[in-house]
Amino acid sequence: MGFLNPDRSVLPRAALVIGGASEAGGSGEAFEHVYPGTAEVTTQLRLANADDVDRAVAAARAAAPAWRALAGDRRRDLMLRLAALIEEKAAEMIPLLSIENGSIVIAGPHMSADAAQKFRYFGGWADKIEGRTVATWGGPAHDYVSYEPYGVVGLIVPWNGPLFAATMCLAPALAAGNCVVLKAPENAPFSIMKLVEIIGLAGFPPGVVNLVTGGPDVGAAMVAHSGIDKIEFIGSGATARKILASAADTLKPVGLELGGKSAVIVFADANLQGAARRGLAGAVSANGQGCVNGTRLLVERSIYEPYLQMLAAMAGHIKVGDPLAMDTIMGPVISEASLGRIQGMVGGGVADGARLVCGGERLGGDHAAGFFLPVTVLADVSPGSAIARTEVFGPVLVVTPFDSEEEAVTLANDSEYGLGAYIHTTNLARAHRVAGQMMAGQVQVNGSGEAMTPCVPFGGMKRSGHGRLGGIEALREFQQVRNVWVNLQD
Ligand code: NAD
Repeated sequence: MGFLNPDRSVLPRAALVIGGASEAGGSGEAFEHVYPGTAEVTTQLRLANADDVDRAVAAARAAAPAWRALAGDRRRDLMLRLAALIEEKAAEMIPLLSIENGSIVIAGPHMSADAAQKFRYFGGWADKIEGRTVATWGGPAHDYVSYEPYGVVGLIVPWNGPLFAATMCLAPALAAGNCVVLKAPENAPFSIMKLVEIIGLAGFPPGVVNLVTGGPDVGAAMVAHSGIDKIEFIGSGATARKILASAADTLKPVGLELGGKSAVIVFADANLQGAARRGLAGAVSANGQGCVNGTRLLVERSIYEPYLQMLAAMAGHIKVGDPLAMDTIMGPVISEASLGRIQGMVGGGVADGARLVCGGERLGGDHAAGFFLPVTVLADVSPGSAIARTEVFGPVLVVTPFDSEEEAVTLANDSEYGLGAYIHTTNLARAHRVAGQMMAGQVQVNGSGEAMTPCVPFGGMKRSGHGRLGGIEALREFQQVRNVWVNLQD
């Protein structure tokens, strides 16, 4: 049976939107977008270049004074209108989410609804921006603190969940009163292109949101640009290092949301079936390419083998294949190169002594053209081995046994990353005790991603980044603080 063909007629047309004007392409190089389900080229895009970034920054700077001055209730109303329009146009958005990066089509409605919810949530903050007063020391004075927008912020997001990543920065940035230059990743640009099209329809003033679709050179031009006041970056640690080095020239603040190797601790008292199902989500969610996926499973020794058996049995029921088919649970990874890299890492894990429980082999037959790897579970993984320490960014779980709560905590924290941590237990005291020791920005107890809602702060500790997107913390991410001291003496 063949794969469903992506409908190319639904692809949005504007790769750039500058000062409210849609442009089919930029002045940069031509780029062929590849659909990961079949490796076919969907369309050719003309990407932006540094000159286009200049124009986008100029448009954002021109729009910034009026947007900053616009009353919060007006910003709120625009954001609520945008949320409603995203919902209205969900049917146009959903196929794009699959075509751009092979996301499964049944996840589309949730992804689209989540984008709307982010604008609704942060629209709700736009009319509630308040400062505070400070009781001063010394002579009579009145002192107050206000939270101000930066002006123009640059948003750089990755291909694995472009709409999710873009909206998690864009919504708080706009609510705080900033204008934006947003870079859509060239290898998964369509949902962001559609979003910016909808932003135009919602009636945002021209120049408030500017879109440049492009690759690393476009991101680098944004970071170096003196007209951008802050960068929010979601992506890999390797790119973050380059960005920080470049930002040193303009002393620009940079928010970082980076990768992870998030631990999943399964205690013997856990609901085993629930913990196996949720453990599997670490491989399946976003086709294994989610930054906060729980991919490093630590399982109490007394339930280690039964847990592995359950995991493997459940993995066997995961239908891997056509992203556009309604019964598919897991789609392809993003590219041939990525698949080769993942398989190389799995091979390295086995060479380092891990036991391959399931998966590992690229799918052939009907699936041979696309970039498909089934759920792959490696057991008996040594905590010091490369596969236990490095982000794979594919549908691969590594499993290691532990003997005590103390050992579980030590193993979980023994990582350069600190994005997520998952704890499976039915013991309430243990859940809180262990959660309180996790060096991770987002801890979930008996969960597997449900916490990823706009209302809670999300971000990393250690090399998973700093700053928070989600919740009031995300609003603060896009505000700078002004303190005003007024002498009350003549
Ligand atoms: P990447 O770092 O290669 O690219 C991310 C973005 O940065 C892309 O838009 C890219 O074009 C741009 N870029 C590349 N070089 C640049 C440069 N020198 N200057 C400015 N911009 C540049 O990452 P990726 O492979 O696209 O995404 C995967 C990584 O993202 C993983 O590590 C994943 O964990 C991480 N991620 C983190 C989160 C989070 O919220 N913490 C969310 C999604 C993905």
